[in-house]
Amino acid sequence: MEPTSNSHQDKIDRFNEGIRERNPAEYEFHQAVQEFTESVMPFSLEHPKYADSHILERMTEPDRIIIFRVCWENDEGQVCCNRAWRVQFSNAIGPYKGGLRFHPNVSQSILKFLGFEQSFKNALTGLPMGGAKGGSNFDPKGKSDREVMRFCQALMVELSRHIGEDTDIPAGDIGVGAREMGYLFGQYKHLQNRFNGSLTGKGITFGGSLVRTEATGYGVVYFSQHMLARQVDSLKGKTALVSGAGNVALYCAEKLISEGVKVLTLSDSSGFIHDPDGIDVNKLNWIKHLKLMRRGRVSEYAEQYPNAHFYPDQRPWAIAADLAFPCATQNEIDEASANQLIENGIMLVAEGANMPSTPTAIRIFRDAKILFGPSKAANAGGVSVSGLEQSQNAVRLAWTRDEVDLRLQQIMKHIHSQCEQYGLDQNQHIDYSRGANIAGFVKVADAMLAYGIT
Ligand code: NDP
Repeated sequence: MEPTSNSHQDKIDRFNEGIRERNPAEYEFHQAVQEFTESVMPFSLEHPKYADSHILERMTEPDRIIIFRVCWENDEGQVCCNRAWRVQFSNAIGPYKGGLRFHPNVSQSILKFLGFEQSFKNALTGLPMGGAKGGSNFDPKGKSDREVMRFCQALMVELSRHIGEDTDIPAGDIGVGAREMGYLFGQYKHLQNRFNGSLTGKGITFGGSLVRTEATGYGVVYFSQHMLARQVDSLKGKTALVSGAGNVALYCAEKLISEGVKVLTLSDSSGFIHDPDGIDVNKLNWIKHLKLMRRGRVSEYAEQYPNAHFYPDQRPWAIAADLAFPCATQNEIDEASANQLIENGIMLVAEGANMPSTPTAIRIFRDAKILFGPSKAANAGGVSVSGLEQSQNAVRLAWTRDEVDLRLQQIMKHIHSQCEQYGLDQNQHIDYSRGANIAGFVKVADAMLAYGIT
Protein backbone atom coordinates (compact mmCIF):
# COMPACT_ATOMS: atom_id res chain seq x y z
CA MET A 1 0.00 0.00 0.00
CA GLU A 2 1.13 3.58 -0.68
CA PRO A 3 2.33 5.22 2.57
CA THR A 4 -0.43 7.34 4.13
CA SER A 5 0.66 10.93 4.91
CA ASN A 6 0.56 12.11 8.53
CA SER A 7 -2.20 14.61 7.86
CA HIS A 8 -4.30 11.95 6.14
CA GLN A 9 -3.69 9.55 9.02
CA ASP A 10 -4.83 12.24 11.51
CA LYS A 11 -8.05 12.67 9.57
CA ILE A 12 -8.62 8.90 9.41
CA ASP A 13 -8.05 8.63 13.17
CA ARG A 14 -10.42 11.51 13.95
CA PHE A 15 -13.06 10.12 11.62
CA ASN A 16 -12.93 6.70 13.27
CA GLU A 17 -13.00 8.26 16.72
CA GLY A 18 -16.30 9.84 15.69
CA ILE A 19 -17.58 6.48 14.44
CA ARG A 20 -16.76 4.90 17.81
CA GLU A 21 -18.47 7.72 19.74
CA ARG A 22 -21.64 7.63 17.64
CA ASN A 23 -21.87 3.83 17.60
CA PRO A 24 -20.80 2.74 21.10
CA ALA A 25 -19.81 -0.90 21.64
CA GLU A 26 -20.41 -1.81 17.96
CA TYR A 27 -16.93 -3.32 17.63
CA GLU A 28 -17.44 -5.25 14.39
CA PHE A 29 -18.88 -2.14 12.75
CA HIS A 30 -15.92 -0.04 13.97
CA GLN A 31 -13.54 -2.63 12.53
CA ALA A 32 -15.22 -2.68 9.11
CA VAL A 33 -15.31 1.13 8.85
CA GLN A 34 -11.69 1.45 10.01
CA GLU A 35 -10.50 -1.04 7.38
CA PHE A 36 -12.49 0.78 4.68
CA THR A 37 -11.44 4.30 5.58
CA GLU A 38 -7.73 3.42 5.79
CA SER A 39 -7.70 3.05 2.02
CA VAL A 40 -10.68 5.17 0.95
CA MET A 41 -10.15 8.32 2.99
CA PRO A 42 -6.81 9.28 1.37
CA PHE A 43 -8.48 8.74 -2.02
CA SER A 44 -11.49 10.83 -0.98
CA LEU A 45 -9.25 13.65 0.27
CA GLU A 46 -7.41 13.66 -3.04
CA HIS A 47 -10.76 13.97 -4.86
CA PRO A 48 -12.46 16.98 -3.23
CA LYS A 49 -15.83 16.29 -4.87
CA TYR A 50 -16.20 13.42 -2.38
CA ALA A 51 -14.58 15.04 0.66
CA ASP A 52 -16.45 18.37 0.19
CA SER A 53 -19.80 16.56 0.07
CA HIS A 54 -19.01 14.57 3.24
CA ILE A 55 -19.67 11.36 1.34
CA LEU A 56 -17.82 9.14 3.84
CA GLU A 57 -19.77 10.58 6.78
CA ARG A 58 -23.01 9.96 4.91
CA MET A 59 -22.21 6.44 3.73
CA THR A 60 -21.23 5.21 7.22
CA GLU A 61 -24.74 6.01 8.50
CA PRO A 62 -27.31 3.36 7.46
CA ASP A 63 -30.45 4.59 5.67
CA ARG A 64 -32.51 2.89 8.40
CA ILE A 65 -32.52 0.00 10.88
CA ILE A 66 -35.68 -1.93 11.62
CA ILE A 67 -35.67 -3.84 14.95
CA PHE A 68 -38.50 -6.12 15.91
CA ARG A 69 -39.66 -8.85 18.28
CA VAL A 70 -40.30 -12.37 16.98
CA CYS A 71 -42.50 -14.57 19.18
CA TRP A 72 -43.03 -18.20 18.34
CA GLU A 73 -43.97 -21.47 20.05
CA ASN A 74 -41.55 -24.37 20.53
CA ASP A 75 -42.43 -28.08 20.35
CA GLU A 76 -43.12 -28.14 24.11
CA GLY A 77 -45.74 -25.43 23.68
CA GLN A 78 -43.59 -22.79 25.39
CA VAL A 79 -43.56 -19.20 24.14
CA CYS A 80 -40.14 -18.09 22.87
CA CYS A 81 -39.04 -14.58 22.05
CA ASN A 82 -36.18 -13.45 19.80
CA ARG A 83 -34.96 -10.16 18.44
CA ALA A 84 -34.59 -9.51 14.71
CA TRP A 85 -33.17 -6.70 12.59
CA ARG A 86 -33.05 -5.49 9.02
CA VAL A 87 -30.29 -2.97 8.40
CA GLN A 88 -31.08 -1.17 5.13
CA PHE A 89 -27.70 0.41 4.61
CA SER A 90 -27.70 2.00 1.17
CA ASN A 91 -29.97 1.93 -1.88
CA ALA A 92 -27.81 4.36 -3.84
CA ILE A 93 -27.25 2.00 -6.76
CA GLY A 94 -30.22 -0.38 -6.49
CA PRO A 95 -32.76 -1.91 -4.10
CA TYR A 96 -31.35 -3.03 -0.75
CA LYS A 97 -29.86 -6.52 -1.03
CA GLY A 98 -28.13 -8.79 1.46
CA GLY A 99 -28.55 -11.95 3.48
CA LEU A 100 -30.32 -12.93 6.69
CA ARG A 101 -28.24 -14.52 9.45
CA PHE A 102 -29.64 -16.70 12.26
CA HIS A 103 -27.03 -17.22 14.97
CA PRO A 104 -27.08 -16.64 18.75
CA ASN A 105 -24.28 -14.04 18.49
CA VAL A 106 -26.13 -11.87 15.96
CA SER A 107 -26.18 -8.24 17.11
CA GLN A 108 -26.82 -4.83 15.61
CA SER A 109 -23.06 -4.34 15.35
CA ILE A 110 -22.56 -7.52 13.32
CA LEU A 111 -25.45 -6.68 11.00
CA LYS A 112 -24.23 -3.11 10.52
CA PHE A 113 -20.74 -4.31 9.60
CA LEU A 114 -22.22 -6.83 7.18
CA GLY A 115 -24.64 -4.31 5.64
CA PHE A 116 -21.88 -1.72 5.24
CA GLU A 117 -19.56 -4.21 3.51
CA GLN A 118 -22.42 -5.49 1.39
CA SER A 119 -23.01 -2.04 -0.15
CA PHE A 120 -19.51 -1.98 -1.67
CA LYS A 121 -19.40 -5.68 -2.51
CA ASN A 122 -22.64 -5.32 -4.46
CA ALA A 123 -21.25 -2.29 -6.26
CA LEU A 124 -18.24 -4.35 -7.39
CA THR A 125 -20.47 -6.95 -9.06
CA GLY A 126 -21.60 -4.38 -11.65
CA LEU A 127 -25.24 -5.29 -10.94
CA PRO A 128 -27.77 -2.71 -9.69
CA MET A 129 -27.94 -3.76 -6.04
CA GLY A 130 -27.81 -1.68 -2.85
CA GLY A 131 -26.58 -3.03 0.49
CA ALA A 132 -28.45 -4.50 3.47
CA LYS A 133 -28.22 -7.27 6.01
CA GLY A 134 -30.57 -8.74 8.55
CA GLY A 135 -31.16 -11.61 10.86
CA SER A 136 -31.90 -12.72 14.36
CA ASN A 137 -30.28 -14.09 17.51
CA PHE A 138 -32.37 -17.25 16.94
CA ASP A 139 -30.23 -20.41 16.93
CA PRO A 140 -31.49 -23.03 14.45
CA LYS A 141 -29.05 -25.59 15.89
CA GLY A 142 -30.88 -28.33 17.77
CA LYS A 143 -34.33 -27.05 16.73
CA SER A 144 -36.81 -29.31 14.97
CA ASP A 145 -37.90 -28.50 11.41
CA ARG A 146 -41.29 -27.42 12.76
CA GLU A 147 -39.70 -25.05 15.27
CA VAL A 148 -37.57 -23.50 12.53
CA MET A 149 -40.69 -23.21 10.37
CA ARG A 150 -42.68 -21.46 13.10
CA PHE A 151 -39.83 -19.06 13.77
CA CYS A 152 -39.36 -18.21 10.07
CA GLN A 153 -43.09 -17.65 9.63
CA ALA A 154 -43.27 -15.39 12.68
CA LEU A 155 -40.25 -13.39 11.50
CA MET A 156 -41.72 -12.91 8.04
CA VAL A 157 -44.96 -11.45 9.44
CA GLU A 158 -42.98 -8.31 10.28
CA LEU A 159 -40.19 -8.49 7.69
CA SER A 160 -42.67 -8.73 4.79
CA ARG A 161 -43.73 -5.13 5.40
CA HIS A 162 -40.24 -3.88 4.65
CA ILE A 163 -39.13 -5.95 1.64
CA GLY A 164 -40.13 -6.36 -1.99
CA GLU A 165 -38.49 -6.87 -5.38
CA ASP A 166 -38.00 -3.11 -5.89
CA THR A 167 -37.31 -2.31 -2.23
CA ASP A 168 -35.22 -4.88 -0.41
CA ILE A 169 -34.39 -8.46 -1.40
CA PRO A 170 -33.05 -10.68 1.43
CA ALA A 171 -31.11 -13.92 0.83
CA GLY A 172 -29.43 -16.55 3.05
CA ASP A 173 -26.33 -16.36 5.25
CA ILE A 174 -25.11 -18.26 8.34
CA GLY A 175 -27.95 -20.41 9.65
CA VAL A 176 -30.26 -19.55 6.75
CA GLY A 177 -30.05 -22.20 4.05
CA ALA A 178 -32.47 -23.95 1.71
CA ARG A 179 -34.82 -25.08 4.49
CA GLU A 180 -35.16 -21.63 6.05
CA MET A 181 -35.53 -19.95 2.63
CA GLY A 182 -38.41 -22.28 1.79
CA TYR A 183 -40.26 -21.36 4.98
CA LEU A 184 -39.50 -17.65 4.60
CA PHE A 185 -40.58 -17.43 0.96
CA GLY A 186 -43.65 -19.61 1.58
CA GLN A 187 -44.81 -17.21 4.28
CA TYR A 188 -43.96 -14.11 2.23
CA LYS A 189 -45.98 -15.43 -0.71
CA HIS A 190 -48.88 -16.27 1.59
CA LEU A 191 -48.95 -12.86 3.27
CA GLN A 192 -48.49 -10.78 0.13
CA ASN A 193 -50.35 -12.99 -2.35
CA ARG A 194 -47.48 -12.31 -4.74
CA PHE A 195 -45.02 -14.76 -6.28
CA ASN A 196 -42.01 -12.66 -7.18
CA GLY A 197 -38.26 -12.22 -6.69
CA SER A 198 -38.45 -10.60 -3.24
CA LEU A 199 -36.13 -13.23 -1.75
CA THR A 200 -33.21 -14.99 -3.43
CA GLY A 201 -31.68 -18.37 -2.72
CA LYS A 202 -35.10 -19.94 -3.32
CA GLY A 203 -35.44 -23.63 -4.23
CA ILE A 204 -34.96 -24.43 -7.92
CA THR A 205 -38.57 -25.57 -8.27
CA PHE A 206 -39.96 -22.26 -7.02
CA GLY A 207 -37.96 -19.52 -8.69
CA GLY A 208 -34.41 -20.19 -7.50
CA SER A 209 -31.43 -19.97 -9.83
CA LEU A 210 -29.15 -22.83 -10.77
CA VAL A 211 -25.63 -22.32 -9.31
CA ARG A 212 -26.89 -19.99 -6.50
CA THR A 213 -26.09 -22.67 -3.90
CA GLU A 214 -22.56 -23.09 -5.22
CA ALA A 215 -21.96 -19.47 -6.23
CA THR A 216 -20.12 -18.02 -3.23
CA GLY A 217 -17.71 -20.96 -2.91
CA TYR A 218 -17.15 -21.27 -6.66
CA GLY A 219 -16.71 -17.51 -6.94
CA VAL A 220 -13.93 -17.49 -4.33
CA VAL A 221 -12.08 -20.09 -6.38
CA TYR A 222 -12.60 -18.20 -9.67
CA PHE A 223 -11.26 -15.05 -8.01
CA SER A 224 -8.23 -16.96 -6.72
CA GLN A 225 -7.54 -18.27 -10.21
CA HIS A 226 -7.31 -14.69 -11.48
CA MET A 227 -4.97 -13.72 -8.64
CA LEU A 228 -2.71 -16.67 -9.44
CA ALA A 229 -2.90 -16.24 -13.22
CA ARG A 230 -1.44 -12.74 -12.84
CA GLN A 231 1.62 -14.45 -11.28
CA VAL A 232 1.64 -16.98 -14.14
CA ASP A 233 0.57 -19.66 -11.67
CA SER A 234 -2.48 -21.88 -11.18
CA LEU A 235 -4.32 -23.91 -8.54
CA LYS A 236 -3.36 -27.31 -9.90
CA GLY A 237 -1.29 -29.46 -7.55
CA LYS A 238 -1.55 -27.10 -4.58
CA THR A 239 -2.74 -27.89 -1.05
CA ALA A 240 -5.46 -25.90 0.71
CA LEU A 241 -6.93 -25.23 4.13
CA VAL A 242 -10.67 -24.54 4.17
CA SER A 243 -12.54 -23.53 7.33
CA GLY A 244 -16.26 -23.97 7.86
CA ALA A 245 -18.48 -26.79 6.64
CA GLY A 246 -21.47 -24.78 5.51
CA ASN A 247 -22.66 -23.45 2.19
CA VAL A 248 -19.56 -21.43 1.32
CA ALA A 249 -16.94 -23.91 2.58
CA LEU A 250 -18.45 -27.00 0.96
CA TYR A 251 -18.70 -25.50 -2.52
CA CYS A 252 -15.35 -23.77 -2.23
CA ALA A 253 -13.85 -27.20 -1.44
CA GLU A 254 -15.82 -28.80 -4.30
CA LYS A 255 -14.46 -26.36 -6.89
CA LEU A 256 -10.93 -26.60 -5.49
CA ILE A 257 -11.00 -30.39 -5.75
CA SER A 258 -12.24 -30.17 -9.35
CA GLU A 259 -9.31 -27.83 -10.14
CA GLY A 260 -6.77 -30.37 -8.85
CA VAL A 261 -6.22 -28.94 -5.36
CA LYS A 262 -5.69 -31.22 -2.36
CA VAL A 263 -8.09 -29.94 0.33
CA LEU A 264 -6.72 -30.83 3.77
CA THR A 265 -9.20 -29.37 6.26
CA LEU A 266 -12.78 -28.35 7.02
CA SER A 267 -14.22 -27.13 10.32
CA ASP A 268 -17.29 -26.16 12.29
CA SER A 269 -17.77 -24.37 15.59
CA SER A 270 -16.69 -27.48 17.51
CA GLY A 271 -13.24 -27.84 15.86
CA PHE A 272 -11.56 -28.89 12.62
CA ILE A 273 -10.66 -32.06 10.77
CA HIS A 274 -7.32 -32.62 9.05
CA ASP A 275 -7.17 -35.29 6.39
CA PRO A 276 -3.53 -35.65 5.20
CA ASP A 277 -4.74 -37.84 2.28
CA GLY A 278 -6.93 -34.98 1.07
CA ILE A 279 -10.72 -34.67 1.03
CA ASP A 280 -11.75 -36.09 -2.36
CA VAL A 281 -15.13 -35.89 -4.12
CA ASN A 282 -16.52 -38.99 -2.39
CA LYS A 283 -15.47 -37.80 1.05
CA LEU A 284 -16.88 -34.35 0.32
CA ASN A 285 -20.22 -35.87 -0.70
CA TRP A 286 -20.20 -37.76 2.59
CA ILE A 287 -19.68 -34.47 4.49
CA LYS A 288 -22.39 -32.73 2.46
CA HIS A 289 -24.82 -35.44 3.50
CA LEU A 290 -23.61 -35.19 7.10
CA LYS A 291 -23.98 -31.39 7.29
CA LEU A 292 -26.90 -30.69 5.00
CA MET A 293 -29.13 -33.76 5.57
CA ARG A 294 -28.22 -35.11 9.00
CA ARG A 295 -27.11 -31.74 10.44
CA GLY A 296 -24.19 -33.56 12.11
CA ARG A 297 -20.75 -32.37 13.32
CA VAL A 298 -17.45 -32.51 11.36
CA SER A 299 -15.91 -34.55 14.19
CA GLU A 300 -17.80 -37.56 12.77
CA TYR A 301 -15.53 -37.40 9.68
CA ALA A 302 -12.58 -38.66 11.71
CA GLU A 303 -14.63 -41.69 12.79
CA GLN A 304 -15.58 -42.41 9.17
CA TYR A 305 -12.05 -41.85 7.75
CA PRO A 306 -9.49 -43.07 10.34
CA ASN A 307 -6.46 -41.40 8.65
CA ALA A 308 -8.05 -38.06 9.46
CA HIS A 309 -7.76 -36.33 12.82
CA PHE A 310 -10.28 -34.11 14.62
CA TYR A 311 -8.92 -31.18 16.66
CA PRO A 312 -11.61 -29.97 19.09
CA ASP A 313 -12.04 -26.20 19.65
CA GLN A 314 -9.24 -25.31 17.22
CA ARG A 315 -8.99 -23.68 13.82
CA PRO A 316 -7.05 -25.17 10.91
CA TRP A 317 -4.47 -22.40 10.40
CA ALA A 318 -1.50 -24.25 11.98
CA ILE A 319 -1.51 -26.92 9.25
CA ALA A 320 1.04 -26.31 6.47
CA ALA A 321 -0.49 -25.64 3.02
CA ASP A 322 -0.16 -23.39 -0.05
CA LEU A 323 -3.59 -21.77 0.08
CA ALA A 324 -6.09 -20.76 2.80
CA PHE A 325 -9.82 -20.19 2.39
CA PRO A 326 -11.49 -18.97 5.60
CA CYS A 327 -15.18 -19.71 4.95
CA ALA A 328 -16.76 -19.87 8.44
CA THR A 329 -17.18 -16.52 10.19
CA GLN A 330 -15.73 -13.10 11.09
CA ASN A 331 -12.37 -12.73 12.87
CA GLU A 332 -11.41 -16.41 12.57
CA ILE A 333 -7.81 -15.57 11.53
CA ASP A 334 -6.09 -13.55 14.26
CA GLU A 335 -2.51 -12.30 14.57
CA ALA A 336 -1.09 -15.61 15.80
CA SER A 337 -2.85 -17.59 13.06
CA ALA A 338 -1.69 -15.16 10.37
CA ASN A 339 1.92 -15.42 11.58
CA GLN A 340 1.63 -19.19 11.60
CA LEU A 341 0.29 -19.24 8.04
CA ILE A 342 3.15 -17.06 6.83
CA GLU A 343 5.76 -19.16 8.66
CA ASN A 344 4.32 -22.24 6.97
CA GLY A 345 4.73 -20.64 3.54
CA ILE A 346 1.14 -19.78 2.63
CA MET A 347 1.02 -18.00 -0.76
CA LEU A 348 -2.66 -17.03 -1.05
CA VAL A 349 -5.50 -16.27 1.37
CA ALA A 350 -8.95 -15.74 -0.18
CA GLU A 351 -11.83 -14.82 2.13
CA GLY A 352 -15.03 -16.83 1.60
CA ALA A 353 -16.50 -15.63 4.90
CA ASN A 354 -17.14 -11.96 5.63
CA MET A 355 -14.24 -10.23 7.44
CA PRO A 356 -12.63 -13.51 8.62
CA SER A 357 -9.21 -11.86 9.06
CA THR A 358 -8.60 -9.36 11.86
CA PRO A 359 -6.97 -6.02 10.91
CA THR A 360 -3.62 -7.23 12.29
CA ALA A 361 -3.84 -10.43 10.28
CA ILE A 362 -4.48 -8.41 7.11
CA ARG A 363 -1.45 -6.22 7.90
CA ILE A 364 0.69 -9.35 8.29
CA PHE A 365 -0.48 -10.71 4.91
CA ARG A 366 0.11 -7.32 3.28
CA ASP A 367 3.62 -6.98 4.73
CA ALA A 368 4.48 -10.52 3.61
CA LYS A 369 3.23 -9.60 0.10
CA ILE A 370 1.23 -12.80 -0.26
CA LEU A 371 -1.89 -12.78 -2.44
CA PHE A 372 -4.78 -11.63 -0.25
CA GLY A 373 -8.34 -11.64 -1.64
CA PRO A 374 -10.61 -9.63 0.73
CA SER A 375 -14.18 -10.79 1.28
CA LYS A 376 -15.72 -7.79 -0.45
CA ALA A 377 -14.22 -8.98 -3.71
CA ALA A 378 -13.55 -12.69 -3.26
CA ASN A 379 -16.95 -13.79 -1.92
CA ALA A 380 -19.12 -11.57 -4.13
CA GLY A 381 -20.12 -14.55 -6.27
CA GLY A 382 -23.07 -15.41 -4.01
CA VAL A 383 -24.76 -12.05 -4.23
CA SER A 384 -23.94 -11.91 -7.93
CA VAL A 385 -25.95 -15.02 -8.65
CA SER A 386 -28.66 -13.70 -6.32
CA GLY A 387 -28.75 -10.69 -8.66
CA LEU A 388 -29.02 -13.08 -11.60
CA GLU A 389 -31.86 -14.89 -9.79
CA GLN A 390 -33.71 -11.55 -9.54
CA SER A 391 -33.20 -10.98 -13.28
CA GLN A 392 -34.54 -14.44 -14.12
CA ASN A 393 -37.57 -13.90 -11.84
CA ALA A 394 -38.26 -10.51 -13.42
CA VAL A 395 -38.39 -11.95 -16.94
CA ARG A 396 -39.99 -15.23 -15.78
CA LEU A 397 -37.21 -17.35 -17.26
CA ALA A 398 -34.74 -19.91 -15.90
CA TRP A 399 -31.27 -19.88 -17.41
CA THR A 400 -29.21 -23.05 -17.79
CA ARG A 401 -26.51 -24.04 -15.34
CA ASP A 402 -23.79 -23.28 -17.88
CA GLU A 403 -25.24 -19.87 -18.65
CA VAL A 404 -25.36 -18.84 -14.99
CA ASP A 405 -21.91 -20.28 -14.29
CA LEU A 406 -20.43 -18.40 -17.25
CA ARG A 407 -21.97 -15.12 -16.06
CA LEU A 408 -20.59 -15.78 -12.57
CA GLN A 409 -17.11 -16.32 -14.02
CA GLN A 410 -17.39 -13.08 -16.01
CA ILE A 411 -18.46 -11.15 -12.92
CA MET A 412 -15.55 -12.51 -10.84
CA LYS A 413 -13.15 -11.52 -13.65
CA HIS A 414 -14.70 -8.03 -13.74
CA ILE A 415 -14.27 -7.70 -9.95
CA HIS A 416 -10.64 -8.73 -10.27
CA SER A 417 -10.00 -6.13 -12.95
CA GLN A 418 -11.57 -3.38 -10.81
CA CYS A 419 -9.26 -4.36 -7.92
CA GLU A 420 -6.37 -4.09 -10.37
CA GLN A 421 -7.55 -0.68 -11.62
CA TYR A 422 -7.59 0.89 -8.14
CA GLY A 423 -5.15 -1.31 -6.23
CA LEU A 424 -2.03 -1.42 -8.41
CA ASP A 425 1.10 0.15 -6.90
CA GLN A 426 4.28 1.34 -8.62
CA ASN A 427 5.84 -2.12 -8.17
CA GLN A 428 2.96 -3.64 -10.15
CA HIS A 429 1.71 -5.35 -6.98
CA ILE A 430 -2.08 -5.33 -6.45
CA ASP A 431 -3.38 -4.40 -3.02
CA TYR A 432 -6.75 -6.11 -3.46
CA SER A 433 -8.26 -4.59 -0.28
CA ARG A 434 -7.45 -1.07 -1.39
CA GLY A 435 -8.60 -1.80 -4.94
CA ALA A 436 -11.92 -3.34 -3.85
CA ASN A 437 -12.64 -0.58 -1.31
CA ILE A 438 -11.96 2.29 -3.70
CA ALA A 439 -13.74 0.71 -6.68
CA GLY A 440 -16.85 0.04 -4.55
CA PHE A 441 -16.67 3.49 -3.00
CA VAL A 442 -16.46 5.33 -6.33
CA LYS A 443 -19.55 3.64 -7.68
CA VAL A 444 -21.72 4.28 -4.61
CA ALA A 445 -20.30 7.78 -4.06
CA ASP A 446 -20.90 8.91 -7.65
CA ALA A 447 -24.55 7.85 -7.40
CA MET A 448 -24.89 9.74 -4.09
CA LEU A 449 -23.40 12.87 -5.67
CA ALA A 450 -25.85 12.62 -8.57
CA TYR A 451 -28.80 12.65 -6.14
CA GLY A 452 -27.70 15.86 -4.47
CA ILE A 453 -28.01 16.17 -0.69
CA THR A 454 -30.22 13.31 0.51
P1 NDP B 1 -23.47 -21.71 7.01
O1 NDP B 1 -24.39 -21.50 8.13
O2 NDP B 1 -23.92 -22.54 5.86
O3 NDP B 1 -22.09 -22.31 7.53
C1 NDP B 1 -21.32 -21.63 8.47
C2 NDP B 1 -20.16 -22.53 8.86
O4 NDP B 1 -19.28 -21.78 9.68
C3 NDP B 1 -20.60 -23.73 9.69
O5 NDP B 1 -19.71 -24.78 9.46
C4 NDP B 1 -20.48 -23.20 11.11
O6 NDP B 1 -20.30 -24.21 12.08
C5 NDP B 1 -19.25 -22.33 11.02
N1 NDP B 1 -19.34 -21.25 12.00
C6 NDP B 1 -20.34 -20.34 12.14
N2 NDP B 1 -20.10 -19.52 13.17
C7 NDP B 1 -18.93 -19.93 13.69
C8 NDP B 1 -18.13 -19.48 14.77
N3 NDP B 1 -18.51 -18.43 15.53
N4 NDP B 1 -16.97 -20.14 15.01
C9 NDP B 1 -16.57 -21.20 14.25
N5 NDP B 1 -17.29 -21.65 13.21
C10 NDP B 1 -18.44 -21.03 12.94
O7 NDP B 1 -23.05 -20.23 6.50
P2 NDP B 1 -22.43 -19.80 5.12
O8 NDP B 1 -21.52 -20.84 4.62
O9 NDP B 1 -23.53 -19.32 4.27
O10 NDP B 1 -21.60 -18.49 5.55
C11 NDP B 1 -20.25 -18.57 5.99
C12 NDP B 1 -19.60 -17.22 5.85
O11 NDP B 1 -19.65 -16.79 4.47
C13 NDP B 1 -20.25 -16.07 6.65
O12 NDP B 1 -19.25 -15.15 7.03
C14 NDP B 1 -21.16 -15.42 5.61
O13 NDP B 1 -21.48 -14.08 5.94
C15 NDP B 1 -20.28 -15.51 4.38
N6 NDP B 1 -20.98 -15.40 3.11
C16 NDP B 1 -21.99 -16.26 2.78
C17 NDP B 1 -22.60 -16.15 1.55
C18 NDP B 1 -23.62 -17.14 1.09
O14 NDP B 1 -23.97 -17.09 -0.10
N7 NDP B 1 -24.10 -18.05 1.91
C19 NDP B 1 -22.27 -15.06 0.62
C20 NDP B 1 -21.12 -14.28 1.04
C21 NDP B 1 -20.55 -14.43 2.25
P3 NDP B 1 -21.54 -24.69 13.00
O15 NDP B 1 -22.42 -25.44 12.07
O16 NDP B 1 -20.92 -25.50 14.07
O17 NDP B 1 -22.17 -23.42 13.51
